[in-house]
Amino acid sequence: MAVASNLGFPRFGAKRELKKAVETFWKGKISEAELRDTADMLLERHWRIQMDAGLFAIPVNDFSYYDHMLDMTGLLGAIPPRYNAPLLDEIKLDTYFAMARGAQDADRDVPAMEMTKWFDTNYHYIVPEFDEDTDFHIASLHPFRAVEKARAAGVEHPRPVLVGPATYLLLGKILDNTPKRVILERMLPVYGEILRRFHEMDVDMVQLDEPALVLDLDDEARSIFEQAWTYLNSLSERPKLLTTTYFGSIAHNADLAVDMGDGLHLDLVRAPEQLDTIAPQLPEGKLLGCGVVNGRNVWRADLDKALNLLKRAATLRGGHEDIMVAPSCSLLHSPIDLDLETRLDDEIKSWMAFGKQKLDEVVALTHVLNGEGSSDVQQAFAASRDAWDARRSSSRVVNETVRERQDAINDTMARRASDFPKRVAAQQAKLNLPPFPTTTIGSFPQTREVRRLRLQLRKGELTREQYEHAIENEILNTLKYQEEAGVDVLVHGEFERNDMVEYFGEQLDGYAFTQHGWVQSYGSRGVKPPIIFGDVHRPHPMTVRWSKFAKDHTDHPVKGMLTGPVAMLQWSFVRDDQPRSKTCEQIALAIRDEVVDLEAAGIEVVQIDEPAFREGLPLRRKDWSAYFDWAVRCFRVASSGVKDDTQIHTHMCYSEFNEIFDAIAAMDADVISIEASRSRMELLDAFDEFHYPNDIGPGVWDIHSPRVPSSDEMTDLLQRALKHIPKQRLWVNPDCGLKTRGWTEVKESLANMVAAAKRMREEAAG
Ligand code: GLN
Ligand code: ZN
Repeated sequence: MAVASNLGFPRFGAKRELKKAVETFWKGKISEAELRDTADMLLERHWRIQMDAGLFAIPVNDFSYYDHMLDMTGLLGAIPPRYNAPLLDEIKLDTYFAMARGAQDADRDVPAMEMTKWFDTNYHYIVPEFDEDTDFHIASLHPFRAVEKARAAGVEHPRPVLVGPATYLLLGKILDNTPKRVILERMLPVYGEILRRFHEMDVDMVQLDEPALVLDLDDEARSIFEQAWTYLNSLSERPKLLTTTYFGSIAHNADLAVDMGDGLHLDLVRAPEQLDTIAPQLPEGKLLGCGVVNGRNVWRADLDKALNLLKRAATLRGGHEDIMVAPSCSLLHSPIDLDLETRLDDEIKSWMAFGKQKLDEVVALTHVLNGEGSSDVQQAFAASRDAWDARRSSSRVVNETVRERQDAINDTMARRASDFPKRVAAQQAKLNLPPFPTTTIGSFPQTREVRRLRLQLRKGELTREQYEHAIENEILNTLKYQEEAGVDVLVHGEFERNDMVEYFGEQLDGYAFTQHGWVQSYGSRGVKPPIIFGDVHRPHPMTVRWSKFAKDHTDHPVKGMLTGPVAMLQWSFVRDDQPRSKTCEQIALAIRDEVVDLEAAGIEVVQIDEPAFREGLPLRRKDWSAYFDWAVRCFRVASSGVKDDTQIHTHMCYSEFNEIFDAIAAMDADVISIEASRSRMELLDAFDEFHYPNDIGPGVWDIHSPRVPSSDEMTDLLQRALKHIPKQRLWVNPDCGLKTRGWTEVKESLANMVAAAKRMREEAAG
């Protein structure tokens, strides 16, 4: 019989109970015991949901107070010495949170461990650190306790989830020159001991996540996989091992993967084609996990299509006995329960499935594969068919005008009328900016008062007119302040925006919003991505009113502020019925219209933010150029509708530019501002090899910290930048938007920034 399973369940709770409990614990308002009670309550509730769905194996130890990679670090005892952790059987929660967030109190001042993105998701994990002295030992009992608790709650087949040794090591950072192989040798016996304990507890199978198999692996990484799994395979006292992979194909590493453990899970949503390569190579009797329900999205599965894949798998394996049906990856990346959404439009809602509903799909598929077609199951299939038929033809989804426009996109639309040198001359003639022009990235402090205005508007405590008047006041104050500070290119401050994606999504056709569609981003932080369900279309201008208001109240140039097509795509749940590139193109057209309208309203400078441009990069290098082709083109479509003398800015906030310089240059923005101050302008080294042709403003003020940088410090950074960038091309700006900062620091820092620019001008003149 094929079995239904899951790889992991969302942790927060439907009402974000965990987030709230953790945050109140950090504030010292609840005890550790109370926090643990909340966790236990959620665990039981989530196991109950999975048991009720009818799963065979249920994941345990998929829960975490902060992050599962950090849990693994705790479990393996790889606690960096700076946390001064006492040698205990169980890491203290206090140490655990200090590693996650840093700690500053009477007896310590330690920074957090580094955090980075988990593959191509918006989930962030805590990066493990190793060195010569890392002493691995079991330092958490949580996974073992989780098995006991699950059994007590009635779970018959608890399946503990761990990050596999190769992925854990390869995603970590070795601080000295110790070879990976040596770290692995020290780490493996602890994995061995963990597995032995599970075996002693009569656990029949453990899930070891090895998603690093989807990446490009060099020889060293491949040998890490080999060494790790030769060891794990050879253990005599261990449960069966299920290797899980997700977010891509592992066909290029099939030779390694097929010999690992007793089962192998594949992501057949992202990479259905790998089935034919891998299934025939798997040794007989090995469990084949088929991830046919998308764990990364909010759409109902096409059950007929999924069933066909499962049947294909059964054919290739000579029967369905050793097949596991599952979501493509952990449901950590899906919202938890569609039933909680009371405000979603019924039609659109009928096309969706969140975590809980996805499990029902998994179970229905398993039943049919096993030849058990009860009426419930038939109903599930019928509902899936109806939903897909409706989506394909719904007037909510298809907008013929948009499609015609999209078909008509040509190279002219994706290119400015003239090349940069001619444009920059035209812009300078119009803007007449001093050397080292100063500007900001867009937002000014989103104070409690500003946020309250939106709340009051929503609650009906303010009329639209009163609200707009209050926003206008904020704009006027901010303009006046920028004028007094001596900033050259002003912004209106983005006070009308809750979020840079949501604000635009709410005004575009094709977008829907949930009430509870949260997914974990890092630690206690969640995001609630908008949902793109249909052809994106801009029914009316979105920002012109505010930018125009600002323009009418100052003699300085005002920069219009937009979110770019790639960011809009990357930070939303995207429809799965057409390629992402097509959806991105539609957003690009909507932004293009906005840019043109801004120009018509007299706005001379428009910034199109693309902070997620690098984040969108595919996991494998071979796929990069295809991504760049459409992502760059979409930006160009969005930005090229204007005349030469309208200046287009873009903004990106990350500093690993080296590998993607060509693509950034190909976007052909007149000015780009980038985050740079934290790396002390190291990123500029890349400019020596690659001459960025247009204007650039490497951020000189780290806005992620409340610290006020002195004008000396900023001058110093600018001088360093001058070694790499010609002085006519250099702009002066902060790293990113100022919305999380307070006015006091902003005023001081901005004054210092303008002073630094003035010093640069004097020095250049003298
Ligand atoms: N214009 C946006 C702001 O200033 C840019 C935010 C971002 O880069 N993430 O807030
Ligand atoms: Zn930024």
